[in-house]
Amino acid sequence: LRKPKIVILGAGYGGLMTATRLQKAVGVNEADIVLINKNDYHYETTWLHEASAGTLHHDKVRYDVRDVIDRHKVEFVQGSVEEIKMDEKRVILENGDIVYDYLVIALGAEPETFGIKGLKEYAFSIVNVNSARQIREHIEYQFATYNTEAEKKDERLTIVVGGAGFTGIEFLGELTNRVPELCREYDVDYHKVKIVCVEAAPMVLPGFDPELVNYAVATLEKKGVEFRIGTAIKEATPEGIIVAKGEEEVEEIKAGTVVWAAGVRGNSVIEKSGIEAMRGRVKVQPDLRLPGSDDVFIVGDCSLIINEEINRPYPPTAQIAMQQGEVCARNIAALVRGKSEMETFTPDIKGTVCSLGEDDAIGVAFGKKMVGTKASFMKKMIDNRALYMIGGPSLVLKKGKFNVL
Ligand code: FAD
Repeated sequence: LRKPKIVILGAGYGGLMTATRLQKAVGVNEADIVLINKNDYHYETTWLHEASAGTLHHDKVRYDVRDVIDRHKVEFVQGSVEEIKMDEKRVILENGDIVYDYLVIALGAEPETFGIKGLKEYAFSIVNVNSARQIREHIEYQFATYNTEAEKKDERLTIVVGGAGFTGIEFLGELTNRVPELCREYDVDYHKVKIVCVEAAPMVLPGFDPELVNYAVATLEKKGVEFRIGTAIKEATPEGIIVAKGEEEVEEIKAGTVVWAAGVRGNSVIEKSGIEAMRGRVKVQPDLRLPGSDDVFIVGDCSLIINEEINRPYPPTAQIAMQQGEVCARNIAALVRGKSEMETFTPDIKGTVCSLGEDDAIGVAFGKKMVGTKASFMKKMIDNRALYMIGGPSLVLKKGKFNVL
């Protein structure tokens, strides 16, 4: 009898969680498990803002996928997924193809630029290790170049962050810590540096408690961030951005660096494969399967789940991706054993903590509001927990955050 083949696409939070749980749940004689990922390493997407600002080295945010999987049970294939041919149960990679019996799509998110002109060409996005490294290098280059030019261009020292959501705010927190270091290193007057956050919505961190939002805004403003709320980016150019407040007030902000952190969508492989989606995210069935399919599961940022209480989608988070991975693994294990009853996925939101830099944060955890070092401590515990869930204590010792006091 041929063993069923389980193919997992993506070794991020959702994919690795599925793989590490499945390798325990099914025996080698029950199924073949294949994990496919673009790189031979996993990166902590939730730490990329630190690597982008340059406050944490990019090697600290990644580890070898093979270190956390059981190589006797899971075959790791490094490759970039281009398309899924559902009718043939086949995944097309840039360097070959693989057939499956059960498929898990866990390919994460991509930036959503909402068709804003020039953003793709002239703005950076915090997406993966490559883009984080490039943003860090680019900002540093602007500082290094500033004093070499006969006619000094102050706009080199302006950094625009598009979006005051979770990613934008966390990145600003790191930037405000990094900029004084860069000023010292490159003999740049701190007062010449401008950090501008442009947000089209009328508020910062929508969905967060207003008291916590006020704390975050006041803290970042004290550290030099200028907030332009209710202001939309209309265009990005080689010189900076064009913004508009209302219909008339159009203004150019010259900037050496523009980082777009105002929106994500599901991986484009979803649409390329002809799967029905909303901005690349698939409204999955309660058991995490693709509607109309018995053997394709979708977890993480490529999936969309409605919060029935407010009738809106849950924001895509690592927290949800990991919880989905656990349920997905149990459901596939059941299918492999010929059972048809599936477990329903319900997110269990334990809290949300938004970092404001190394030693400051805001958040709600276990129903309690917190700010400052307490919240920052909680954030590091959450980061360490994610490592623990996938790689156990040895991974926490290798990659964990212990500078908590
Ligand atoms: P990911 O973890 O991003 O993994 C996707 C994987 O797929 C990657 O390994 C990638 O290399 C691989 N891949 C992509 N395309 C291909 C391809 N074509 N072929 C092969 N492999 C591919 N969430 C929280 O819960 N808390 C936070 O504090 C938080 N902070 C964040 C801060 C930042 C700066 C960002 C950007 C996000 C943050 N998030 C946070 C959101 C969180 O990171 C995502 O929701 C989470 O990573 C989703 O997990 P995933 O498994 O879907 O995708």
